[in-house]
Amino acid sequence: MRVLDYPAEVRGILSFDFDGTLFLPENEVVLEPVFYETIEKLRQDGWLWAINTGRSLLFMLEGFEQSSFPFSPDFLVAREREIYTPGDRFGRWHRLEDWHENYMRDTAHFMKESAGFIDLMKQYIEDETAAQWIEEEGDPAGIIASSEDEMIVIAEFVEEQRKSYDLVGVLRNSIYMRFTHKDYHKGTSLQELARRLQVPVERVFAIGDGHNDIDKLHPDVAGMIACVGNSQQEVKDYVSSHGGYVAKAHGSLGSVEALNYFLA
Ligand SMILES: [Mg+2]
Repeated sequence: MRVLDYPAEVRGILSFDFDGTLFLPENEVVLEPVFYETIEKLRQDGWLWAINTGRSLLFMLEGFEQSSFPFSPDFLVAREREIYTPGDRFGRWHRLEDWHENYMRDTAHFMKESAGFIDLMKQYIEDETAAQWIEEEGDPAGIIASSEDEMIVIAEFVEEQRKSYDLVGVLRNSIYMRFTHKDYHKGTSLQELARRLQVPVERVFAIGDGHNDIDKLHPDVAGMIACVGNSQQEVKDYVSSHGGYVAKAHGSLGSVEALNYFLA
């Protein structure tokens, strides 16, 4: 993947979710070339771009391959909160360590304060649901539900229980849910990028399709918010009730449609 030359002047930042918003694995063309053409033009006008995904870095690198990315994004936010820049022409990525250290410190505090909540959730999932409890290296804890309907039931239980725990954040996407410190999600990582680039909120564009994108579609995070035509209904409702644009087209074509709506 090429790394594009850094623009002389930064005009703003464009943030894309990956799965569903750009990448549609069920389609013959998983990511339409017109997306790259549109981005390359906007990039020449000084718009930097980021992928904000729930995927891990390694899983995202696979996604870049599968969708034949011709050039890399300026930023990659993996697992909703690890911020990377394409470091060099050999394709190595650099994690922003100061931000990551803050995350590690806050997460240690979260784990201590919320241990009762995590225990309670684990017991509930194992005893009362068909869902799976997961604990992965570097992640506090998570759930894989047996169906989207089951996830709705679990989400209601979680909302009720977390009222007594101030630090619990919930990242949810279809049958997946992860628990995290409430200050680390797609919204705060995008705000951190804008802060570093000194880009005001009016010049932040954000688009997604799933529940975990709602954090970055908040008007405090992005002045231009959108979702693709294949988004979850909850996301469409959120975007239209916050003055955003709901694209008709799906995946990367929907993303291009939204870019044209705001920036053409
Ligand atoms: Mg998605």
